[in-house]
Amino acid sequence: MTEKVCSVVEKKVIKVAIIEDFKLTRVGLRCALNENDDLKVVAEAEDAVEGLKLVEKEKPDVILMDLGLPGMNGIEATVKVKEMMPQVKVIALTSHDREEGVIAALSSGASAYCLKDIDPTKLADVVRDVSTGVCWIDPMVSQMALNSFPKVENIGFLPGKSQSEGRVPLTEREYEVLKHLVAGKSNTEIAKELIVSVHTAKAHVCSILQKMCVNDRVQAAVKAVKEGMV
Ligand code: CA
Repeated sequence: MTEKVCSVVEKKVIKVAIIEDFKLTRVGLRCALNENDDLKVVAEAEDAVEGLKLVEKEKPDVILMDLGLPGMNGIEATVKVKEMMPQVKVIALTSHDREEGVIAALSSGASAYCLKDIDPTKLADVVRDVSTGVCWIDPMVSQMALNSFPKVENIGFLPGKSQSEGRVPLTEREYEVLKHLVAGKSNTEIAKELIVSVHTAKAHVCSILQKMCVNDRVQAAVKAVKEGMV
């Protein structure tokens, strides 16, 4: 696990861009995010071409990217953004719940996949988490994403499985954290649930990712459900 994900990130204003063709949604997102002192919407666009220009100019930390844009769609735009500015994090935003949409969005380099009916407080948390390198997928759609993965042999990480079986077991605590992770909870929420510091929650997540040989929490959640760990 990289130090970037595990280290304590200092508080700063996170710059956000919104690329969304539906004006009312755009205004709603802007108002919801700007209510937070640590979040600031610095650019808004109604299509991908205009959006990419603004992103280059304003250099946001996070982009809320509608997938259903006219012309160049949000997935193509995400690929372009990640090529241009790999450090920028993208949250794919959609009202669609088709599984191929989820997979396409995540493989385009998006860090998170949110349905548009997400609670505004939760969305603010996702923006903060994503800006620190964390990935997140709406639990409502993670199950659909799983359905489109090919089945693989269960290699198992359940507590109690021994090293001699060639598996790296999670501790009871990590297993508990994994269940919260699959439920789509942020590190802050996991810390609250377990009554531990956010730093400790992050450390557990980092350890889980290492043991499960995955790069991020989305992959961990997908693997956990697919292999019947939760
Ligand atoms: Ca749209």
